[in-house]
Amino acid sequence: VPISQFELIDRILVHLGDRVASSIVVPPGDDAAVWRPDQPLVVAHTDTLIEGAHWTRQTMSFADAGWRVVAVNVSDIAAMGARPRYILLTVMVGPDLTEQEVDQVVEGVAASRRVHDVQVIGGGVNASATTALSVTVLGDAAEGPPPPLLRRDGARAGEAIAVSGWVGASSAGRELIRSGRGSPTSDALLRAHRRPVARTQLGMAAAAAGVRSGIDVSDGLVQDLGHIAQRSRVGIEIALDALPLHPAAVSELGLQRASDLALGGGEDYELVLVGSASTLEALATPELAVTIIGWTVEAHPGEVHVFDVDGMRYFPPFVGWDHLQARAAGEVV
Ligand SMILES: [Mg+2]
Repeated sequence: VPISQFELIDRILVHLGDRVASSIVVPPGDDAAVWRPDQPLVVAHTDTLIEGAHWTRQTMSFADAGWRVVAVNVSDIAAMGARPRYILLTVMVGPDLTEQEVDQVVEGVAASRRVHDVQVIGGGVNASATTALSVTVLGDAAEGPPPPLLRRDGARAGEAIAVSGWVGASSAGRELIRSGRGSPTSDALLRAHRRPVARTQLGMAAAAAGVRSGIDVSDGLVQDLGHIAQRSRVGIEIALDALPLHPAAVSELGLQRASDLALGGGEDYELVLVGSASTLEALATPELAVTIIGWTVEAHPGEVHVFDVDGMRYFPPFVGWDHLQARAAGEVV
């Protein structure tokens, strides 16, 4: 007899609901969670990771998938400059998912929510045709005017564009895993793919410093920058040789491939920030680099142009991931 839905929920809550903050009025276990917000603005986001579409048993463990579903959701709160606080987790149990694998998911979620400093306040379990993990994350932010948020429509022409950490490391890791070419020097790349860390502190620091536009690198740098260009009605120009490429990505895959993955590979969960160059540079810490990679311009509003070291326009082979178009094209992870 398989474990029951209610036993599974209890199991999840035993591992994840252990710390109950004073702001939680009704903890997990009732029909709904109730909490007292610290800040006047509530910020919410939801995202689902589906086995076979977002990860496979080849590319990562179930613990990695559990880690990731928290990180990718928290990253979108970080990309608003807000503070992530609570998550609701739904586990959709596919026919071949074992109890041990559910425990691994829970272990990954538990580790990730500790690092990302968020609490599990609810969720659920369903039987499903495919295994999937869904998280809703709730955060908060201070009131303005204007509210200290990083918005896609907050950029103006004449500003600098910066990115945190490395770009292209995650998709370089995915490529090495798929080709079975993992080596000791590529460990950092595999980790970037399996265990990304959302840049919450950077997002909040940027918003507090007066930066008003940003996005996280989820689907591909050029495509993600395109959202800012379109929503802010500015042009964006990126210098190819300014991209912070991970040295292991360059040594394992070559400069050309590492650059293309940085432009379109996605899943880095680094933050792109738009603001004055001096403000952006001051956000760097000993642990996390903030690198200026381009600027906003009045020309070509809504478009992202990439330039090579000779100042020639460079057309990347891919700019980002679109799940619906990828499925239509028959592509898999
Ligand atoms: Mg995002």
